[in-house]
Amino acid sequence: MDLFNALQADDYEQVVFCQDKVSGLKGIIVIHDTTLGPALGGLRMWDYKTEEEALNDALRLAKGMTYKNAAAGLNIGGGKAVIIGDPKKDKSEALFRAFGRYVESLGGRYITAEDVGTTVQDMDHIHMETNFVTGTSSGGGVGDPSPITALGIYKGMKAAAKAAFGSDDLFGKKIAVQGVGHVAYSLCSYLHEEKANIIVTDINAEAVERAVQAFGAESVEPDDIYDVDCDIFAPCALGGGINDDTISRLKAKVIAGSANNQLLEERHGKVLHDKGIIYAPDYVINSGGVINVVEEMKGYDEDSVLNKVETIYTALERVFDISKEKDIPTAQAADNMAENRIKVLQQVRKTFIPHNKNVIE
Ligand code: NAD
Repeated sequence: MDLFNALQADDYEQVVFCQDKVSGLKGIIVIHDTTLGPALGGLRMWDYKTEEEALNDALRLAKGMTYKNAAAGLNIGGGKAVIIGDPKKDKSEALFRAFGRYVESLGGRYITAEDVGTTVQDMDHIHMETNFVTGTSSGGGVGDPSPITALGIYKGMKAAAKAAFGSDDLFGKKIAVQGVGHVAYSLCSYLHEEKANIIVTDINAEAVERAVQAFGAESVEPDDIYDVDCDIFAPCALGGGINDDTISRLKAKVIAGSANNQLLEERHGKVLHDKGIIYAPDYVINSGGVINVVEEMKGYDEDSVLNKVETIYTALERVFDISKEKDIPTAQAADNMAENRIKVLQQVRKTFIPHNKNVIE
């Protein structure tokens, strides 16, 4: 890879390669953009086949965090880190403490968190070396962020329903929920309260049974969820579910769910747009999780979290307006909205503010 060309193409700020022989640490921290504030993004531990694969993953995920944090209206930039290694075999206190020292050395430019392959215990080990870490057992947070994420999905789904059906009322709407785990179970409780008709699927039979019992949901086999006659499709399992195979089968007018990277490829956003399906871009609608993390860092205030999560509704209204005005896919409209916020605030914040009399050292 021609690294500097790649960094220039998407204007990355900094890449830090972290090596420690004793602990076996091979890590990469990527800071994509700190215009809005310190870069926040999780630490992924994965058995990457090559170093290039690890670097590409870190670059892609860090840029994604810039957009997600900006679109959520947070004063937070985008970053991400990866550790090369098998999370089942290669973990140790020393490994995460060595990584923590690299995080500390960045002086707060990067704040780390849990991601695929890392746990609260790993964050606790990092915390022994730096305060620039969230999701520790002593972090003063509220633990599982999924109820907050679910509330955001519910609000966002209503905004999408309004764009598609002219009303955000979900009463009597048929909603197909793919994957009924932590987020989707909480989501279903809101939908049930509003008397929507819920159809669920999951590869875990117990999860399905729980939703059937609690919400009187119908259930279908995992692959049949794409063929269900419904108004709204809520992908809440894994990414990549919206693809050439599935789009032609979907009956829904709205796609609104919690899964990350729902579109298999960017071009699928255009296919949905051309078919008149309102797609709530994943990183906007599922930003309740990151809002929760940022509030945890500031000292948790539940009212403030709930107020911020409410804004997912208006953020999505803005996305749908841009999409309509410019005749572009909603995913592209969300990117435009995030880029625009960064650009405008960069300009607004250029004014020099003296903090003391001796401004010239
Ligand atoms: P989870 O693991 O609790 O739930 C996912 C569910 O999907 C599980 O019950 C699993 O059995 C099921 N599943 C997996 N593959 C499936 C398939 N092919 N068909 C049907 N069901 C399948 O996870 P979660 O915390 O509820 O998160 C759900 C999604 O939302 C994930 O993509 C996650 O990345 C995303 N997300 C979660 C949060 C959060 O706060 N938890 C925040 C932002 C995004």
